Amino acid sequence: MGIRVIDRQTVRRLLTWEAAIPLMREAMMALSAGRTGQLLRQLLPIEGGVLAVMPGATPEVFGAKLISVMPGNFDKGIASHQGGVLLFEPESGAPVALLHAGEITAIRTAAASAAATDVLARPDAARLAILGYGEQAETHAHAVAHVRKLAGVTVWGRSAERARAFADRLAPQLGVPVTPAAGVEAAVAEADIVCAVTGAREPILFGAAVAAGAHVNLAGASGLGPREADDDLIVRGRIFADHREGVLRQSGEVVHAIEAGLIGEGHVLGEIGEVMAGAKAGRLTAEDVTIYKSLGAIVQDLASGWYVYRRAMQDGLGTDASF
Ligand code: NDP
Repeated sequence: MGIRVIDRQTVRRLLTWEAAIPLMREAMMALSAGRTGQLLRQLLPIEGGVLAVMPGATPEVFGAKLISVMPGNFDKGIASHQGGVLLFEPESGAPVALLHAGEITAIRTAAASAAATDVLARPDAARLAILGYGEQAETHAHAVAHVRKLAGVTVWGRSAERARAFADRLAPQLGVPVTPAAGVEAAVAEADIVCAVTGAREPILFGAAVAAGAHVNLAGASGLGPREADDDLIVRGRIFADHREGVLRQSGEVVHAIEAGLIGEGHVLGEIGEVMAGAKAGRLTAEDVTIYKSLGAIVQDLASGWYVYRRAMQDGLGTDASF
């Protein structure tokens, strides 16, 4: 028996935005419809970070992602997310593939945010603000550009120098002006779409700063402790979760607002997959602030991994390891 080992470059080559965004839309609808299942993510603290364990199953494939998250790596120029997605085929229960989890995570998270943006942002949304300039910031900018015609992008991060370098790199890739902003307020003031993708542990994005009618992808804080958005934004927004149970139990922002008595569980209006399927109303007016709260879901990794694996088998990509 062998398993196909698929590296970062092959994931990147095969998991294009044209493939990944519709795949995430399907994966989120399947999760909400109960066609796929996942356990809540477990986080084991380790020196310098956490080890995340994420198991799930779909009719086509089951498996798990095992990934370390080491925030300090960013300053050393090493990816902060590293690990593997192990896929099993359900007929025999045999493991069939091991894929580069860092690259899948970078792409599938942004593709899911883009699919959410597509159903929640105003049709004319054209100004994008990105908070952060790391791996997710880059993939989010590219993914969102696939669902809305962008006129310009503003970028904020703690280092003005890094924000400038990121903006200079991104502008020719996107073909629109990309401008570093001096603060979060300046970055988001005019934004129709905001992507919060930082490692911030305390709120940096305040409800009062977000323009009426904006859509916000809140993706950076993906465990119980950290919060990127303050209570005000959570109270103000029409919130949809990637996975409702996960967000109600493991989102620092939502749990904080519930524990403060500011919202009830019903304030999380549903899952993004329900909005995509037309079962729940997303944006009601052009003035609503909509929020997609992303913690990250293994069904996204499984759908991405299964797609890449089948394409790699067809095209003879990857390496077989005997087992
Ligand atoms: P990177 O390590 O590549 O980048 C981290 C970014 O966060 C950098 O811009 C860094 O810049 C910034 N940052 C770190 N600390 C702070 C802070 N206190 N305040 C403001 N900015 C800060 O990470 P990724 O891009 O891969 O991930 C970004 C975030 O998204 C992480 O928190 C990660 O856990 C989360 N994530 C969520 C996923 C999901 O499915 N929802 C999936 C993958 C990641 P600087 O240090 O210079 O300020």
